[in-house]
Amino acid sequence: MTRLQLHWQILIAMILAVIAGFATGMDAGIAGVTFYSIYEFIGGLFLNALKMLIVPLITASIITGVAAIGTGDGFGRLGTKTVIYYFATSLLAILTGLFFVNLITPGVVDGVPAGSLMGLEADVSNIVNNAQGRGASDFFTVFERMLPPNIFKAAADGQMLGIIVFSLIFAYYMVRIPEKHASVMTNFWQAMMQIMLKITELVMKFAPIGVFALVAKVVASTGFSAIVPLASFAATVFLALLVHTIITLPLLLTFVGRVHPLRHFQAMFPAMMMAFSTSSSAATLPVTLDCVEKRAGVSNRVSSFVLPLGATINMDGTALYECVAVIFIAQAYGIDLSLGLQFLIVTTALLTSVGVAGVPAASLVAIVVILAAAGLPAEGIGLILAVDRILDMCRTTVNIFSDSCGAVIIARSEGEQGVLEKVPAG
Ligand code: ASP
Repeated sequence: MTRLQLHWQILIAMILAVIAGFATGMDAGIAGVTFYSIYEFIGGLFLNALKMLIVPLITASIITGVAAIGTGDGFGRLGTKTVIYYFATSLLAILTGLFFVNLITPGVVDGVPAGSLMGLEADVSNIVNNAQGRGASDFFTVFERMLPPNIFKAAADGQMLGIIVFSLIFAYYMVRIPEKHASVMTNFWQAMMQIMLKITELVMKFAPIGVFALVAKVVASTGFSAIVPLASFAATVFLALLVHTIITLPLLLTFVGRVHPLRHFQAMFPAMMMAFSTSSSAATLPVTLDCVEKRAGVSNRVSSFVLPLGATINMDGTALYECVAVIFIAQAYGIDLSLGLQFLIVTTALLTSVGVAGVPAASLVAIVVILAAAGLPAEGIGLILAVDRILDMCRTTVNIFSDSCGAVIIARSEGEQGVLEKVPAG
């Protein structure tokens, strides 16, 4: 009997999860144990398994990738291309969001600012406190995080940026020491990488169960009722994300990368599903790497450089969301935004999206920072909390999809053959 391909298994799990989450809600259970707590337990185990892979896999992946670049000038060239790609696509995403939020004006219902109709949804003091003392200068803390005083503590805290920078420098010098030592280290890290990829495959076998639990938990706790009053805001974000994903990025794939975008969607399907169910670019990273290398055929040399960096600093979906959310809040409060203020929002969204961590709900704090920078009421964040989770699932999918397009485009620009040449199997 042929087994159903993994991405179909995941998709079916997701559909079943929506039905199950709806049917059980938060309270139904058997023998005093709620289904919700079972979803939470299994989803938590699956997330732990994914997170457990991150530090060793990313370290090994970056070190082997940079070692493959060798001692030529490839390092600087790859770095420059990566940064240009990240900057350009995030800006395009924000401008798409800006266009739709101005066109649809979800914050105004029948000519009345929606804020007065909705009231504040929840206690927001936690998020506002978190953002206190932070500003647009928050961007600079990104540089601080690049140089953690203790690399082991950074690893223990899951502080990826520090690990990435350390691994890049480590690998740079690893290939510049005498050959007899360099080859020992290179072999060691290559073996490490192979082992970690095998463990990733093992964890992926459990993906349908993990995805089922994670999605059922979200549906059971939020249901669909929370979305209704905010439908127009959610639809604006969704539409803008969709345009970025099925128009802008595929155009780049076609004309800059000269590859078939549909094949890339097929190759990335499992990673996109994973991002959707976990709402975490960081937790999805092992799967993204696996899909980009094995299914899209990008070399480890490029993917290990572009993807870990991307999962930490390139967030197209998040940048777009921040911009739409802030302008929606201003509209809902009946505040007119001048062109200058909109420009400020675009720039701060671009800068803060770099600093947002790849974990669920991370952009909420960034939104408060932008609200403060633009002189808008920080409490406005309460308006969007009810739909944040579902939109988080969508924007995280876009975040990792953009990273993967970057890997493909950069690989092609480096002259790699065999990228997306055949329909991905499995
Ligand atoms: N959850 C997003 C991610 O991991 C970050 C955010 O926008 O909250 O990519």
